[in-house]
Amino acid sequence: MYDHARAVDLIEKSVDARPFCSCGRHTTPVWRDGVVWLECSSLGDPRDGVIARFVAAATAPAHVRTPIIDVLEDGLPLAA
Ligand SMILES: [Zn+2]
Repeated sequence: MYDHARAVDLIEKSVDARPFCSCGRHTTPVWRDGVVWLECSSLGDPRDGVIARFVAAATAPAHVRTPIIDVLEDGLPLAA
């Protein structure tokens, strides 16, 4: 289990280590299902239309998507 400061530090280091995806878009930390992922920002784009979804599916493996740290839902106290 990590404390808040250590979790933030790990996340920042991960972003610093890989600020851009191989597609040229920047990466961003995303919390999902108890894990903070470092993801290509294009993975969060809305998918409109069949062609856009096809392109997204075809190119997804090339985009950055790396787990950074496991964080339980109540593990990160929110700064008020
Ligand atoms: Zn990408």
